[in-house]
Amino acid sequence: MTAQIISGTEVAKEIREELKQEIAELKAKHNLVPGLATVLVGEDPASQVYVGQKEKTCIALGIYSERHDLPVKTTQQELMALVDKLNKDARIHGILVQLPLPKHINETEVLYNINPKKDVDGFHPVNLGKLMIGEPDYIPCTPHGIQELLVRSGTKIDGAEVVVVGRSNIVGKPIANILLQKKPGANATVTICHTGTRDLAFHTRRADILIVAAGKPKAITADMVKEGVVVIDVGVNRIGKSESGKDILVGDVDFEGVKEKAKAITPVPGGVGPMTITMLMLNTLRAAKLAAGLI
Ligand code: NAP
Repeated sequence: MTAQIISGTEVAKEIREELKQEIAELKAKHNLVPGLATVLVGEDPASQVYVGQKEKTCIALGIYSERHDLPVKTTQQELMALVDKLNKDARIHGILVQLPLPKHINETEVLYNINPKKDVDGFHPVNLGKLMIGEPDYIPCTPHGIQELLVRSGTKIDGAEVVVVGRSNIVGKPIANILLQKKPGANATVTICHTGTRDLAFHTRRADILIVAAGKPKAITADMVKEGVVVIDVGVNRIGKSESGKDILVGDVDFEGVKEKAKAITPVPGGVGPMTITMLMLNTLRAAKLAAGLI
């Protein structure tokens, strides 16, 4: 079996077209323009790229974008004050503080200070709590993107054995929670694996749907999956530079080996990555509609 390649680039394009249209209608009918503020502290090159991509996508879709790039020596108080200001700014419906923050800053304290109504990353405990009880205002972007890839690729989630490798608060735990809800696009039996899991392959071989967010190249090899599995590879690992100086990226799954057994698989790059930013745009649109009482 050679796997169907689930292209996040293509699915993201499709969703962005839908969003662009809805954003134009919102402006025409309600004179409402969704606004996103991004906050970047320091000069981490990967974070700069991510923030740049978010800004570019906002502009392409008709979302008002405001970028706050702060020096690495920014204090906790200064950052908290900026978040307070953005919380009160009526043009801004969503606030995204790019992680990771420099070590001297208490990340949790900053994220807790974002008004949950503007928390378009969905990381505030209020939003994670709502997600857990099945009544989310905002679904965190990467897990939401994973669910959309499964749904739009026609993967049967209802009743499936889903195995998630990784238990981070931004990927593993929320995607497990989303897929176990008694809802369309979910209702799966979910197992979460981590470094304390005794026999990882025992679990991964049982998976109808395998979601891997470990941050380790080749954490999953062909002998660890069953024939016909659907694989979502969330990992982004930089393993060197190409001759032209570009980062060489690989996922957590041995793509070449696993694709021979899988029914469908996401590539890296071009899989989950483009979906994450798209879901951020969707959450920003949702934040604007919530603020205006339209939903
Ligand atoms: P993280 O916070 O480092 O968590 C990694 C998780 O994987 C941990 O729970 C860890 O277990 C588990 N793990 C690591 N190695 C393992 C192994 N060999 N066997 C079993 N479990 C293992 O990472 P994250 O933030 O969730 O990100 C995971 C990957 O996804 C990274 O490569 C990241 O760059 C990528 N990512 C991509 C996107 C995107 O948009 N494409 C978004 C977010 C993240 P313990 O808890 O026991 O340590």
